Amino acid sequence: MRGAVCGGLLFAAICCGPAAVKKTEPALKIYALKYGESLYPAGLVNSDAPGKYVPLNWLAYLVETPSGKTLVDCGFSDAKLLKRFGIQKFKPVTRILKDLGISADKIDTIIITHTHFDHALDVDKFPNARIVLHAKEYAAPEEAALVNVLPKLKVETVSAPAVFGELSVEPVMGHTKGSLVVWLRARNTVFTGDECYFAAACRKKIPLPAGAVFSADTNRRFIENLSPQAVILTGHETALQNGRWLNGHVFLFL
Ligand SMILES: [Zn+2]
Repeated sequence: MRGAVCGGLLFAAICCGPAAVKKTEPALKIYALKYGESLYPAGLVNSDAPGKYVPLNWLAYLVETPSGKTLVDCGFSDAKLLKRFGIQKFKPVTRILKDLGISADKIDTIIITHTHFDHALDVDKFPNARIVLHAKEYAAPEEAALVNVLPKLKVETVSAPAVFGELSVEPVMGHTKGSLVVWLRARNTVFTGDECYFAAACRKKIPLPAGAVFSADTNRRFIENLSPQAVILTGHETALQNGRWLNGHVFLFL
């Protein structure tokens, strides 16, 4: 009997080999990290909702891939700015991550879509992260407080499409002079930063209004060229879909 078992195992090893091993999908997870919410002037976002103000979520994203943990934008925690923008239900991104069991030093890369405070100001709270952003945003950050912060960090600038593991960046330069979007091609997912505020409005091809653009042309081209199949994850989405809330601050996409 023992011989038969051994023979069977030997046969399996020779004839089937590694091909018989069930293929496991590479670990790939996307989380929206909602660090706050507020109302915001409707005239500064792409929206056709009636009224002077629209609700906004304030989001960063965590993307886990075999290459590591990447944040797309990293939020902010400056008390004066939180007050000025009337942000409710605030929790710093570092705390949201901690509740997921991820300490700030475990973040490998932060891709900054653009250097407005809400996307970039907490960039120095992640001691081991490589920071990726457009060269123009590095040279002259939109948020003045970043001028002295960025040169102290491990920064990699881009000025053309570039690949970082499973993610790739594409300069759009519609919202700001060096704004970029981030693609996770394996999921046909695009992280738009503020090139788009609401996916539903982008599907209707509503571009950013004049008060929210550096270049209306490149913003419009980006929105018009988005494939209907692409999953659009924005920096301020309120209608998060195809996933579930793990708690009040974390939405896991399935
Ligand atoms: Zn923003």
